[in-house]
Amino acid sequence: MDVLTTPADMQRWSDRVRAGGHRIAVVPTMGALHAGHLTLVERAFDHADRVIVTIFVNPLQFNESSDFDRYPRPIDDDLDACERIGVAAVYAPTAAAMYGPAFQTRVVPGPLADRLEGPMRPGHFEGVTTVVTKLLNATRPHTAVFGEKDFQQLAIVRRMVTDLDVGVDVVGVPIVREPDGLAMSSRNVRLTPDDRDAATVLSRALFAARERFDAGERDAAVLRRIPSDLIAAEPRASLEYVELVDAATLEPLDGTLDDTLGAALLTAAWFGDVRLIDNVQLSADER
Ligand code: AMP
Repeated sequence: MDVLTTPADMQRWSDRVRAGGHRIAVVPTMGALHAGHLTLVERAFDHADRVIVTIFVNPLQFNESSDFDRYPRPIDDDLDACERIGVAAVYAPTAAAMYGPAFQTRVVPGPLADRLEGPMRPGHFEGVTTVVTKLLNATRPHTAVFGEKDFQQLAIVRRMVTDLDVGVDVVGVPIVREPDGLAMSSRNVRLTPDDRDAATVLSRALFAARERFDAGERDAAVLRRIPSDLIAAEPRASLEYVELVDAATLEPLDGTLDDTLGAALLTAAWFGDVRLIDNVQLSADER
């Protein structure tokens, strides 16, 4: 497995691999790899015979410097995990290699970034679109794999890749969960044992709404209220939002749901000083 740390080295590596007739898929991550990330790598092998994992804790997408400082960075474990699963190259640039002193250009997302996570995390999605552009330019992949865990991020990246003619296939992968339903996240290790237990309320609440949807409930207000009431009733959770949106446009849905549209329920909540997100899709063909 090769480890590259500068854009120029990464681009040379990819040019050589492409010239050899291989297909490249990239899995962008911030490291602290867990089974969710590794599932993305496995899916990447469905689309390419050479997989690159990028590991970069992107300062541009953190709206709170304390969250950036506390973000776990177990690079040796991450490299071992990548090697074991057959990753061809890890791209782990330094912040200095990514953002030199004269750096000033950003990729600005459109209205998809204005709701849900957007208002809660000012500047976050602009940091994401900018770093994803840089990572795609450095790794020159045929395919890029992202998790539905970050549902809004996936929608914004898909839009950006189309709008800017990036020429990379974007593949989304369903959320990988712990056995008790908690969506896997690098931030879960920072939960206290009590908060870790309490955090299962997010998936329980979303699944409860999905069960009601499966049983025929189509009233948007009811489907939103089921998870928000359940999460609000958990004393260790501080709820930021529960939103029911059109899965394609992320526009809020109200009234009676139209079965021809995909619908998604998204939530964000704090447990102590850890902010977690989760989501489910309600339309049967999206699962
Ligand atoms: P992160 O390292 O948290 O920035 O995540 C890197 C990629 O892995 C993103 O595309 C995430 O959506 C995806 N990801 C993280 N956790 C999960 C999970 N539990 N299931 C599926 N994808 C995930």
